[in-house]
Amino acid sequence: MQNINEIEELIKVISKLPGLGPKSAKRIVLKLMNNKDELIKPMAKALADVYKNISRCNICGILKSNTIQCNYSNCEITGSEYDKICVVENISDQWSVESSSIFKGYFHILGGTISSADKNKDELLINSLVERVKIGKIKEVILATSATVEGQTTAFYIQDSLKNTNVKISKLAQGLPVGGEIENLDDGTLISAFKNRQSFKK
Ligand SMILES: [Zn+2]
Repeated sequence: MQNINEIEELIKVISKLPGLGPKSAKRIVLKLMNNKDELIKPMAKALADVYKNISRCNICGILKSNTIQCNYSNCEITGSEYDKICVVENISDQWSVESSSIFKGYFHILGGTISSADKNKDELLINSLVERVKIGKIKEVILATSATVEGQTTAFYIQDSLKNTNVKISKLAQGLPVGGEIENLDDGTLISAFKNRQSFKK
């Protein structure tokens, strides 16, 4: 392959995507080059639109259109009012819980776990979770962090942060395999983990 800077650059960027290495990145770039109008053009537009119009809310962590203003009492514009918040580590976890249809309420996406090397507690939106609970009409916070050491450490830290509120705190327990990451669970396991959630003892 002759060295074309633009192509090399594209391969480099695509190979950083999850599940892709240089080899599959090359295959993707070839496919794109052979379908410039059908693939590259709409993809470039879609990427530019997402880059320009969508960002993570710095209060609740969800992905949202920049035209929507989040605030502590009504962070997600869902069209409904809820009294529950489900706390998850990542947006992919939110999508898994949503697709299982077991949970009706708001989400709070931490963006990682406490022991993730590059995350400190402020970055994990835990302070804003406490604010949401205090200001909103929230009756229950469901901690749906992974059954990993980091996930459980994070859950305990959040429980401690919420100890001066009256909110009920529960966490997914039964049915969640040890080491289980929320996004990798099948719907059945996730639904049973939600149904059998246990209250934290205060
Ligand atoms: Zn928000």
